[in-house]
Amino acid sequence: MRLFLALVPPLDLRERLGALADAAHARCGGRRMPDESLHLTLAFLGEVGDEQASELVDWMCRLAVTPGEWRLDAWGHFRRPGIVWVGGQAPDAALGVLHKRLWDALEEFGLAGRPAHFMPHVTLLRRAKRLDASRLPAPDLVWGYNQLDLVQSTIHDRGSRYVSLARSLES
Ligand code: ATP
Ligand code: MG
Repeated sequence: MRLFLALVPPLDLRERLGALADAAHARCGGRRMPDESLHLTLAFLGEVGDEQASELVDWMCRLAVTPGEWRLDAWGHFRRPGIVWVGGQAPDAALGVLHKRLWDALEEFGLAGRPAHFMPHVTLLRRAKRLDASRLPAPDLVWGYNQLDLVQSTIHDRGSRYVSLARSLES
């Protein structure tokens, strides 16, 4: 199964991210991510076998994440897939530490795929026709987090759908 580790926004933040997605969609077109799919990927694991997946579920249920606050104050885009995202202007030290800690643990599980660079972002649009969101109002959100989800991604007609298989401890 296809798995990744992500922060899932609380409902009020999800609504505000959805409003940014609407604004960006009006300007840039493309496919707007549905509200229930909005997330921050911390580690993409790819295909994982059933046995290893259940070990990861056990690990996630016992994991405690250091609480943090991530400031989202910038638009960005990835040109080739036509992705428009929202994220931080400056690299976020706490998310960098969390990312490193997670990959250290994942490598102990024998998983490969640690990226050379980590650029935290929330994808709002895919296959956007125009990538210029810069004339939209600057985002100004704070994402307070204290839990992480192990998420399964399955492919459907209109893009991927995500289901959380396990959540870390409430810290
Ligand atoms: P789709 O691929 O159907 O357009 P998706 O990209 O949202 O949808 P997945 O490909 O399953 O669904 O990806 C799940 C999450 O992992 C997304 O946040 C995606 O950006 C991220 N991701 C996917 N592939 C990689 C990769 N090779 N490296 C880093 N992150 C990835
Ligand atoms: Mg993908």
